[in-house]
Order: sequence, then C-alpha cells, then structure tokens
Amino acid sequence: MAIGSVLGYPRIGADREWKKALEAYWAGRLEESQLHGVLRQIRLDHLRKLQEIGVGLIPVGDFSYYDQMLDTAAMLGVIPKRFGYEGRGAVPLSAYYGMARGTKEAVACEMTKWFNTNYHYIVPELDRGIEPRLTENKPLAAYREAKEALGIEGKPVLVGPLTFVKLSKGYERSETDVWLDRLLPLYVQVLQELEREGAVWIQIDEPILVTDIEEEDVSRLRRIYGAFASAAPGLKIMLQTYFESVERYRDVAALPVSGIGLDFAQGLEGNLASLREYGFPEDKVLGAGVIDGRGIWKAPLRDRLRLLEELADAADRDRLIVQSSCSLLHVPVTAALETRLPEELKNALAFADEKLDEIVLLARALSLGEDKVAEELEAADHLIRELGRLEERYRADVREAVDAIRQEQGSRRPFAERRGIQQEKWKLPLLPTTTIGSFPQTDEVRRARRLWRKGEWDEDRYSEFIRGQIDEWIRLQEDIGLDVLVHGEFERTDMVEFFGEKLAGFAFTSNGWVQSYGSRCVKPPIIYGDAAFRNPMTVGETAYAQSRTDRPVKGMLTGPVTILNWSFVRDDLSREEIAFQLAYALRQEVEALEAAGIGMIQVDEPAVREGLPLKERQRGAYLDWAVRAFRIATGTVRDETQIHTHMCYCEFRDMLPAIEAMDADVISIEASRSHGELIGSFETFAYRQGIGLGVYDIHSPRVPDVREMADMIDRALRVLDPGLFWINPDCGLKTRGREETVAALRNMVKAAGEARAKSSEESQR
Ligand code: GLN
Ligand code: ZN
Repeated sequence: MAIGSVLGYPRIGADREWKKALEAYWAGRLEESQLHGVLRQIRLDHLRKLQEIGVGLIPVGDFSYYDQMLDTAAMLGVIPKRFGYEGRGAVPLSAYYGMARGTKEAVACEMTKWFNTNYHYIVPELDRGIEPRLTENKPLAAYREAKEALGIEGKPVLVGPLTFVKLSKGYERSETDVWLDRLLPLYVQVLQELEREGAVWIQIDEPILVTDIEEEDVSRLRRIYGAFASAAPGLKIMLQTYFESVERYRDVAALPVSGIGLDFAQGLEGNLASLREYGFPEDKVLGAGVIDGRGIWKAPLRDRLRLLEELADAADRDRLIVQSSCSLLHVPVTAALETRLPEELKNALAFADEKLDEIVLLARALSLGEDKVAEELEAADHLIRELGRLEERYRADVREAVDAIRQEQGSRRPFAERRGIQQEKWKLPLLPTTTIGSFPQTDEVRRARRLWRKGEWDEDRYSEFIRGQIDEWIRLQEDIGLDVLVHGEFERTDMVEFFGEKLAGFAFTSNGWVQSYGSRCVKPPIIYGDAAFRNPMTVGETAYAQSRTDRPVKGMLTGPVTILNWSFVRDDLSREEIAFQLAYALRQEVEALEAAGIGMIQVDEPAVREGLPLKERQRGAYLDWAVRAFRIATGTVRDETQIHTHMCYCEFRDMLPAIEAMDADVISIEASRSHGELIGSFETFAYRQGIGLGVYDIHSPRVPDVREMADMIDRALRVLDPGLFWINPDCGLKTRGREETVAALRNMVKAAGEARAKSSEESQR
C-alpha cells in the first residue's frame, strides 16, 4: 500500500495565529507559558489535520518558534557567547529570540535566504570558542508529543549535518571536518534516543546535495551516514533533498540509508535522467516528490500518476512514498478561505491543504488502481482546463509583441556615446546626489491609504493628499540640496503589489500569506494571465512632482525580474516568457514617462540575484534572459534619457558582467555594510557606467555624520571614476522617520560637497 507524506507543513496558521502569538509575546502581551500553550495548540491542530486527511507519514518537529536552522543551532548548543547562555538544558527563549532578533546588548545573528526561496533562515555561527552540546532532543520531544496527544507515529524532521555546517558561518572551510566531528556525536545521540523510543522513520534534510558540492563532501556524506547507520540500525533514515535535482546521484544513492527523497518538481528533469540512467537501489524507499511544494497550482493528477508509475518501474510500488517536493512552508495554508478571486482561478489553486488532498489521492490511486479514483482525477483535470479557458490567459497582442521583441537589445547608442549626450543635457555637478525613491511612510500616509481603501476618502481627496506629500518633499529635497529628486512613492505600499494591481494578468488573495522570515509574512501576487499594460501607472505622480521643480525628477518603476521573483506565477509558461511579458508592459510605462517629460527613469531590480539558479551551470542562461528583460523594458528611450537601476544587496562579484550588460546609465547599490568587500570587486572588474554605492545604512535610525560618509566616498573613489560616481543612501527611506531622514540627507549632501571640492582640487594639481 503506497503512502503519502509531506516534508513539512506551514507553521503560520490559516489566520496567521502563529505570527500573532509570537508578536504578542515579544511585545509583552503574552506570558511565556501562554506562548507555549498557544503554539502547542497550533502544532496539534496541524497534526490533527494531516491525520484526518489521511497523510500516512506525518512530519513532526518541523514546527518552529522562529526558524528550523535556528532550532538546530539551539539544539546543538551552537549559541554565540554574546547571548549569555552557556547552561546545559534547553535554551531559554530570551537567548533563542536574542539570536533571531538581537537584544539590547547583543546584535542578532545574520539572516539569509534559504536556497533560492524567499524564506530566510538564521545563520548559525560556528565559533571556535563554542563547545557544542545537546541542549535538548527536539525531534524526540515532537515525536512523543504527537504520539501521546494524537496517537500519531510521526516522522521526526532534522536538518542534516552537512547542510547545517555548510550553511553556517564563522569558521574556515578547512575546519569543515572539525565541525562535523564535533557535531556528529550529538546527532548520533538524537538518533539513538529516537530509536530507543521506537521511532520508525526519520527525515534528515540535506538540500545542500542539489548544489554543486565538492569532492570531499562525498566522503563526508559516507562518514556521516555510515556513522548513523551503525549507531542506530533500527531507524529508517529518509535522506531528503529538495529544490533541484541531486548532484552526484550515484554517490548519494549508495549511502547506507533506508530512503532517498527526490524532488520531481523543480528537479524533475535531472532526477528523472539520473533514475533512468542509473536506476534506483533495490534496498531503498524512494521519496517521490511529485507534488510541487512551491507552486500554488493544482497538479495535473493523471500526469503525476504516469510519473509515479514510471518511478515505480525503478523502485517498485511498495517502495514509493508519494510526497511533496519540499516542505509546504513555502505556500499559503489553504485556498478555501479565498472569496475575492474569480471562480476558475480559485478552483485551480492548491495551497498546503489542497496539496495534502492531492498527495493522499495519488497514494490511493497507486495502491488501488487508477479506476478507483477516475472521477477525482477527471475533476482535477477539469479544473485545470477551466483555468486555461479564462480569457486573461491568452492575449494575442501581448504574445505577438513579445515574440517580436524578445531578441531586441534596444535602440540606444552605446553608453560611451550616451554619456556625453547626457552630460550636455543634464549638466549635473561632479558626484551628483540622489535618493533611491521612497520617503518615510508616516502614520499619516498609512492612515490616508486606509481611509481611501475603505472608501471613506474618495479618489480626489486621496490624490490631493498624495500631492500634498509630494509638494512637501520636493521642497525639502530642494532645501537639502539634492541634485536629482524623486516624488517619494507615497502612493505605494509595496513595490510589486502596486504595479500588480495596475497591470492585467494579476490576482491578489485575501489570505495567501507565507513566512518570509521570523514572524514576517508576505502575500505575493499571483500572475495567472498574460501580463499586460493597461494605463499609465506612475505618470500622474511623477509628472506632478516634476511640475513643482526645475531640478530633474527621477521616475520610479519596479523591474520585470523583481516583479516575477516576488510573485507566484503560472506554470504553463516559462519564467523567461513571463519576464518578457512584464518587460514589454513596463516598456510602455517607461515610454509614457518619457513622453510626459520625465528624463530620468529608475527601474529597480532588487530581486535579480535571488532568482539565480542553485547550480552554477544554469546561471548563465538565467542572467542572460534577466538582462534581456531589463533591456526590453528600458532600451527604447532617447539617448539623453537617463536610465537608472537599483539593487539592494552586495554580493556582486559574480554578477558584475551581467549588471554591466543591463546597460543602465546609472546603478545604485547597497554598500555601506560591506563596503570593503564590494569595493574590492571593482579592483578586479572595471565598471564603466554610472554607479552610486550607498554611503549610509538605511536600516538603522542612526544619523550618520559627515565624516563617516566622506570616508566611504573617499574609499570608493580610489577605485571608481569620479566622473561616473553618484552619491546616495543604500536603499529607499520608507521605513525611516522624517527628522532622521532629513538630517542624514543633509549630512550626505555636505559629504558630497567636500568630496567634490577635493576632487576638483586634485584634478587641478
Ligand atoms: N525604489 C524603491 C524604494 O525606494 C526601492 C526599494 C528596494 O530596493 N527594495 O523604496
Ligand atoms: Zn534597495
């Protein structure tokens, strides 16, 4: 009898109860014991749901008070000394949340993206001074709880040692084995205690195995899993991979474990090819991740059944577990609560709960035969067909236009020639100053938007309010002495949602939240149809701002790749195709801005980097279409029109050629927190277009002084051409207060003035 399983279930709750509980506890509105009570309730409700739906192998211990990497670090006693806990027992919440969020005395641990998802984990610090120890056996506690409360024979979930060590920081690569040796005995203890307790299956996550691992990692794997097999021979280990196909398939398949979990959604091609070429070991169970754990669409179940049958040729039927391709953490909880979506769209959605149904159904089909579930399979196909019939799905004009322009590089002259034309036109001073786009979204701004959304304010009243904000900030920017102004983005909540609401092809859920980091959840738009331009989206505010000043006002758009990467997208078109549609729509906005007299236009692409494929060999193709999408959006303006772009991260080294190929006239990037590193990249790569390295960190309310920023500028000018250098903050200022923003910008303009004076002195010498 085939069974179904998932690799994890969203922890946030259908109504974000989890988030609310955490935040209430942090704010002191919930006692610690109450927090434990609420979270236990949520946890058990989830388990009960999985049990009732009929999931055969239920994960336990994937639930978290914040993040699973943080849990693992806390369990293994990898707690930086600055959090003041070196005791023996379970880590107190003060230290646990201290690591996640910082305390008055200690800065938080770093947070970074979990592979290529939008989920962020807390990066463990493997500091030599730390003595790892098992503070608590978390999987064991989770296993017991599920058994005692609900009679569930759960599958404890653990982050595997290789992935844990590789994703940690604070040690030299040459110390990898030292750290594995220090941690292995703790893992062994966890497993032995689970074995003694009677646990059957345990899922050990090693997503690192889908990346380009090194030769040494293969022997490390043998060492780790060999040790586990001999220490806890009674335990069945499902070595779980996800997010792509496994590299080194043959080595992984030969490890002494009871099951291998493979991703047949994102990793379909590669994993299937490996399986076809090398077969599947006869002594193992195949965790068949055939239901996409990251997409939001109903699966074509007949199709998936065919796939499962093919897999059953490699590992026979009773050695298959029908699974999600990864944890369901990356999709919203349920589509059942959506009321505002078109019927055909809503019916085609499969969030976490709907995926559970699909998995259970496929497992039944596999055991009982297709006939027994023929009706359900047909129903699934029917809903997908209905979605396909929506007229939004296919716009002939968009398809034709995109086909015609997909190879276009733009009609502009090369930058070297545009540069003089733009200098002539704009007559900007050396080292021009500007900002990244948004100004503080004060309570007043948020309140106005609320009233307007609720219908208490009409359109006129709201736009009058927005104009008032623009007026005020245009005056302020002139007074501060900035050279290139912005309108301030007061009309926008979120840089993707704002455009999504105005373009065709998008839908918005009322409850489609997913965890981004800690208690922060995001509600990505859904791109379900062909994306298309309807009406100008930003021309009104931008042209108004320009009418209030003689200095140039920079128009502000979100780029095609960022809109794509921060949305849920349809799965019947490639991501590349969707990016081109978005690019074509944005081109029309860029052209509308230019026609309205806006001569500088910034197209933000902060999310380009996070779409980078996990495997090195696939990156070139991605960057190639990402660059082309940007050029489609921006490449038709006049040579004198200045195209800006902005990206807010600093690991650039590997991306500089692609960034240059985007052919923007000016790029601004975040740099203040990693200045040295970033500047180093420019020593080896000569960037030849306009560039602004952020001279102050906008994540903190602290007002940096002139000296600090002048030093930053100085250092940058040692490697970058002053004639191409811009001065700006790291990112948008919407989360900052008004006073601090004005004070910081005044200092920035002073620092620019000093640097200018110094530069012209030097050039005279
Ligand atoms: N223009 C946007 C802003 O200033 C850019 C935001 C971003 O980079 N994430 O808010
Ligand atoms: Zn930014």
